Amino acid sequence: MHSVVVIGANLAGGRAVESLRNAGFEGRITLVGEEPWLPYERPPLSKDVLWDSASAADNLFLHDERWYADNRIDVRLGVRAQSIDLTARGICLAGGELIQADCILLATGGAPRKLNIEGADAKNLHYLRTKDDATRIAASLSAGARIVIVGMGIIGAEVAASAVKLGCEVIAIEPLAAPMVRALGPQFGRWLGAEHRKNGVDTRFGRGVTSMKVCNGRISQIELDNGSLVACDTVVVGVGIVPNIELAKGAGIATANGIIVDRECRTSHSYIFAAGDVAEQESFFGGRIRQETYQNASEQAHAAVMAMLGQKVDYCRPAWFWSDQFDLNIQFCGHVPVNGDVVVRGDVEEKSFTAFFRSGPAIEGVLTVNRAQDMGIGRRLVERRLYAAAEHLSDRDLALRELLND
Ligand SMILES: Cc1cc2nc3c(=O)[nH]c(=O)nc-3n(C[C@H](O)[C@H](O)[C@H](O)COP(=O)(O)OP(=O)(O)OC[C@H]3O[C@@H](n4cnc5c(N)ncnc54)[C@H](O)[C@@H]3O)c2cc1C
Repeated sequence: MHSVVVIGANLAGGRAVESLRNAGFEGRITLVGEEPWLPYERPPLSKDVLWDSASAADNLFLHDERWYADNRIDVRLGVRAQSIDLTARGICLAGGELIQADCILLATGGAPRKLNIEGADAKNLHYLRTKDDATRIAASLSAGARIVIVGMGIIGAEVAASAVKLGCEVIAIEPLAAPMVRALGPQFGRWLGAEHRKNGVDTRFGRGVTSMKVCNGRISQIELDNGSLVACDTVVVGVGIVPNIELAKGAGIATANGIIVDRECRTSHSYIFAAGDVAEQESFFGGRIRQETYQNASEQAHAAVMAMLGQKVDYCRPAWFWSDQFDLNIQFCGHVPVNGDVVVRGDVEEKSFTAFFRSGPAIEGVLTVNRAQDMGIGRRLVERRLYAAAEHLSDRDLALRELLND
């Protein structure tokens, strides 16, 4: 292999070019990104950047310009890769330039799913994906402002917590019964919902949005499906992402809810790979999954690069993510098994606990709340799907390490 083109200059793309050079690849590397920025980290966008956009927004970058120059990465920013040219074995940029490559990595991520409702193009309705989105939202979060959050997945829940911290009046609308239910399960979703209420969020769970009243291009009121009206100054919508699969589809690469890759991160075209939020791969727990986590974008991109370089790769890992809301550091590894049970170690009331989600006796998920020190072992328990008795898991005097039997 003499040349690689990476499409998508964010976390997966940034980590991929870094891994290529770290692995000693000396060939030509081109990194193409639609955003005007060098690769940066998104997690602070719903946290630090909202709290203090002026200082935090400058500290997001994986590397500075100098690093890319020193590592001979040809970075093309603010330009879209328009198509994959299978005949020429390369990609076409929006301006028509063809860049040929022996291998291509698709790290195109996802874009916010849009609300399909009248008024959704109003000036005070925001989605949060990019640095620029975060800067715009930050400007609206002044003390006393009425902020309506539509969708209480991880992004909505974090923006709600950040807005509370800044003194805003926050109303959270979520059609499910609690926030982050898909990620944490119903029991801890309800617990998190209660934490939001304790911190002053006006929660409207189990409710959907039916219409939005727009005055002078701005939403002034939102109507819920029980007929109630919610007045607002700013609306932040977090209803998931849609994977950017058009390029792959256009080239006839197999797609479903993402670009389908094997355990080497290889698509249905042998020299084209995919990684990060856009890639759909065999799940650790069976079936296929598209992970939307920082850890996966970094590690899967590294795995894809190793496979390109001809190394043996067998990437199939349980998801791991973290979230910071109010005084809670939440971390989760694995999944919430259907019909499983939950064993808790620590004190939920004290906001310091670890929960183990078991399928039969096997640990398939670990949640830590303000107990990050348990996550290192927790991840290994999940990776091994270790069997553990409930009385051992709940026993605070038994070190988790002892369960590993190493
Ligand atoms: C606000 C926010 C907070 C988050 N917080 C956490 C957290 O606390 N913990 C956690 O684990 N995860 C978190 N995440 C998730 C994590 O940041 C993502 O999983 C990660 O950024 C995915 O990286 P990616 O490179 O795969 O995709 P993306 O970040 O979506 O990057 C893809 C890039 O490709 C570009 N692109 C797409 N199509 C083209 C094209 N045709 N040509 C050129 N460029 C193209 C896009 O413009 C984009 O810049 C958060 C995400 C957001 C948005």
